[in-house]
Amino acid sequence: MAGLQKTSVIDFPDQISAVVFTQGCNFYCPYCHNSQLIPLKLPSGKELMPESYFFGFLEQRQNLLDGVTITGGEPLLQSDLKDFLFKIKNDYNLLIKLDTNGSSSSKLQKLMEADLIDYLAVDLKFSWPNYKQLAPAGLISEIKRSVELIINSDVDYEFRTTVVPGLHDIEEIEKIAIQIKGAEKYFIQNFRPVNTLDPGLTNRRSFAPSKLEQFRLTAEKHLNNVQIRD
Ligand code: SF4
Repeated sequence: MAGLQKTSVIDFPDQISAVVFTQGCNFYCPYCHNSQLIPLKLPSGKELMPESYFFGFLEQRQNLLDGVTITGGEPLLQSDLKDFLFKIKNDYNLLIKLDTNGSSSSKLQKLMEADLIDYLAVDLKFSWPNYKQLAPAGLISEIKRSVELIINSDVDYEFRTTVVPGLHDIEEIEKIAIQIKGAEKYFIQNFRPVNTLDPGLTNRRSFAPSKLEQFRLTAEKHLNNVQIRD
């Protein structure tokens, strides 16, 4: 574990959750604002948070929480994730929300089949051809498989796109919406120019509310439930 936020009312829809941050990601989104979580290995002198600390925390707070949000980094890169989720659900009786970039479909499938995920939030960064800006080519077919798996599952989920001026426009949003046709919920999230992986983006302004609304209306041509998170 790379970090713990002890309480959040915004990360897990309708639930009070603790948020666990995992170390390591296989993408390099220029607008990532958790860029310290991208390297799989921590710089020397820095240490991960022991799991015992987290479970000690849950012992004390279990009754004040509905669930745990697991985010990153990319949580599915963690080899012991299944055991970790199993313990949260079975020993502490808490709900689990998993944030993922969708790049490990078979691991995701195993967690879903084991009934270890109550809510999934899946980032869709771009239309498929544009993914090459931030992810190795081989991962795109994995993400496509994850999208299909999720749409055909009975897990509660959302797809979401962080929209960045200069990287996303109406045409791009429409292509993404078409890619996930049949999805239940799609969130358009505004970019925040804070602590970005590409330092050049810290000077870029977020989209105006009117532009976000145009994106929403465009996506709504193809999807039933499109919402803005600003
Ligand atoms: S935004 Fe998410 S997927 Fe992209 S580099 Fe950061 S942690 Fe990884």
